Amino acid sequence: MPLVTLNEILPQARRDGYAVAAFNVANLETLYSVVRAARAENSPLIVQVYQRLFEDDRAELIGVMARRLAEQSDAPMALHLDHGGTLDRVKQALDIGYTSVMIDGSALPFEENIALTSQAAALAHAAGATLEAEIGHVPFGDGEVKLSDAAEAAQFARQTKVDALAVSIGTAHGFYKKAPKLDIARAAQIGQSVPIPLVLHGGTGVSDEQLLSAITCGVAKINIATELQNLFIRGAAGEIERNGDNFKPVDVYLKPVEAQLFDYARAKIRTLRR
Ligand SMILES: [Zn+2]
Repeated sequence: MPLVTLNEILPQARRDGYAVAAFNVANLETLYSVVRAARAENSPLIVQVYQRLFEDDRAELIGVMARRLAEQSDAPMALHLDHGGTLDRVKQALDIGYTSVMIDGSALPFEENIALTSQAAALAHAAGATLEAEIGHVPFGDGEVKLSDAAEAAQFARQTKVDALAVSIGTAHGFYKKAPKLDIARAAQIGQSVPIPLVLHGGTGVSDEQLLSAITCGVAKINIATELQNLFIRGAAGEIERNGDNFKPVDVYLKPVEAQLFDYARAKIRTLRR
C-alpha cells in the first residue's frame, strides 16, 4: 500500500494497547532491515529520519526507497521527519513526500511551543500529513530533563491540533549511564488527560517491562534510534575484525550486519505488541 500517516497507525495501537516501533534509519541497510523485520511480523512500521539528513539529498533518497518498499507490502508504513527544528524543515519534508513530521519546540516556553506547533500542524494537515510535537523536554546526552505536566499536555494537545504527542516521563536520548526509571504514575495521568497517541523518545536502554508499562498509559509510538544505529556500527566493526585483510564488496560485507539488525528489529516489534 502507499505510505500512510501516523493516523492510520497510532490511534488503533493506542486503542488496542500496543505500540509501534519508530526506527531511525540513515541508509539502505538500516532501512531495508527494519522494513523486512516489520514484514516478517506483518506489523505496522514507522520509518523516521533525523533532520540533518535533510541538509543534502539523503532524506529524499531514503524517502524514495521507503515509498517503494511500502508499496510492496500490505502492512501500513509511515515516513516521518524526526525532531524537525523549524517550519522550513517541516515544509521541506512535506514537499518531498514525507507523510508525517515532528516539530520540536520543547526547548521553548510553553506558549511559544503552542504557537510554533499550531503553525506546523496547519502545514502538515494541509499536505495530508500528520504532526508530532513534544511537551516537556526529553534531553539529549546530559541535558536537563523537564518532565511533562498532564494539565499542560492536555491544553497543548487541544490548542495545537497535534496528532501524536511526545512526552517526557524520565527518558533521555542516547545511551544511559545508569538505567532510567520511568515516571509511570505521571504517564498514567497524562494518558488520562490526553486522548491522542503518546510518543516515547529515548527508547534505547529502557527495560521491556517499563516500555510495556508506558504502553498501558497510552504510549503508542516508541522511538528507537541509538540502539539500532549502534548495532550497525558495532556489527560493521565486528565484520572488519572477523575478515581481517580479506576483501569483500560492501554489500557482501554488510549482509551479516543486516541480519543482526533484522533480528533486533523483529524482536523489538514483537515486544511492543505483546
Ligand atoms: Zn527524540
